Amino acid sequence: MTSTLETAGRVGLQGTAAATPGTSSASAIPYIVSWNLTRRCNLACAHCYLDAVRRRTQARDELDTEASRAVIDQLGRTAPGAMLVLTGGEPLLRLDLAQLVKATVDAGLMPVVGTNGTLLDSSRAESLRDAGAAGAGISLDSSEPRFHDRLRGASGAWAGARRGIAAAGAAGRARVGGTPGVG
Ligand code: SF4
Repeated sequence: MTSTLETAGRVGLQGTAAATPGTSSASAIPYIVSWNLTRRCNLACAHCYLDAVRRRTQARDELDTEASRAVIDQLGRTAPGAMLVLTGGEPLLRLDLAQLVKATVDAGLMPVVGTNGTLLDSSRAESLRDAGAAGAGISLDSSEPRFHDRLRGASGAWAGARRGIAAAGAAGRARVGGTPGVG
């Protein structure tokens, strides 16, 4: 029988486990889990790690809200206290993202949103914060807008990321990374 977690794995569940010194890796509990909530994205990065798609019809294996909550509950039991990075694809394309952030808190996990930032305005930043998001990771690949836009495959991506960073910062939830980071 396939567990909910294994089902989610087919759409991009990744974990990082750290073994306590003196224990076997088999008993290690993940302290960070990064979950690709969706394959959909509004950008087209050259380095995209999951061949992001534009349309919902191209991501038919995406879990709905109820199934996603079940995964989060299972993660809470598997890795209590872990940081859960809710990412994608672009997680802000999921209109239930704040609900999933709240479900993550309720499951005893620390939710962080990994996003390209372009869809993050003050309203959504505040709703994610109010739902319990501990932070938002937004990648800015260069101080040069044209370089970032070329890498991200979209004109205006740099400016959008900067707006997203400002919105997250105003909500008290910004963390900025480069290309290897989330989002
Ligand atoms: S922002 Fe992330 S998911 Fe979207 S195309 Fe770029 S690497 Fe892929």
